[in-house]
Amino acid sequence: MVLLKDVTVTFQNGVTALDDVSLTVSDGEFAFIVGESGAGKSTLIRLLINEIPPTSGRVYVNGFELSKLKKSRAHKLRRSIGYVFQDFKLIDSMTVYENVAFVLRCTDATTRTIRNRVPDAISLVGLKDKVKCLPRELSGGEQQRVAFARAIVANPKLIIADEPTGNLDPKTSLEIIELLKGLNEKCNTTVIMVTHEHEFVRAFGGRTVTLRDGKVVFDGFLNPSL
Ligand code: ADP
Repeated sequence: MVLLKDVTVTFQNGVTALDDVSLTVSDGEFAFIVGESGAGKSTLIRLLINEIPPTSGRVYVNGFELSKLKKSRAHKLRRSIGYVFQDFKLIDSMTVYENVAFVLRCTDATTRTIRNRVPDAISLVGLKDKVKCLPRELSGGEQQRVAFARAIVANPKLIIADEPTGNLDPKTSLEIIELLKGLNEKCNTTVIMVTHEHEFVRAFGGRTVTLRDGKVVFDGFLNPSL
């Protein structure tokens, strides 16, 4: 679960990027966070992944209260979150399989766990036939699917997708959002997808939180127009 209580973030230059934001995203929920450039979306993500602290207020993510999180436990929070960026950041010299396995190799996962989980994650994103491909042999949408496989392979409780469709054409973007919805339903993973592409959000509908000038100006359910 993600819970923000009366959260304000003011940077050193005096800009208030989040202004008294309260927000709850329950376990298993799918929420779009939308807003124009400068609305505070990145700041919200940076808070959730514990990259910056709030100036005031409290942030809880997957059972951790971030202001009380000891450095020695920070890796536990990070492992409970699958984070996907606009820029896929795949390792060019590694195959699809190795890119996904690499995430688990960085944890204390056993060889057996890696052998079990990596093919499952790759199948879930629909890339079973591409396990041996290098990133340059894949389309943009397929590369983003690898990024999702990497994000889910450690069974995170929460996926944060930060403008995951930013570099993709409209058709591929819709496929990626469908994939995310599927992961949310099949794995019961909480998903927070941040985007400035309102038309996709309107097409899919569902829980939508709109930020403007650091404030939540809408938090409700939109009917899908697809
Ligand atoms: P978005 O992701 O919605 O485009 P941001 O969270 O990046 O919005 O930015 C919100 C506001 O905070 C903007 O006015 C931006 O200029 C400002 N801002 C973001 N990061 C910093 C920072 N590190 N230092 C100062 N101001 C910042």
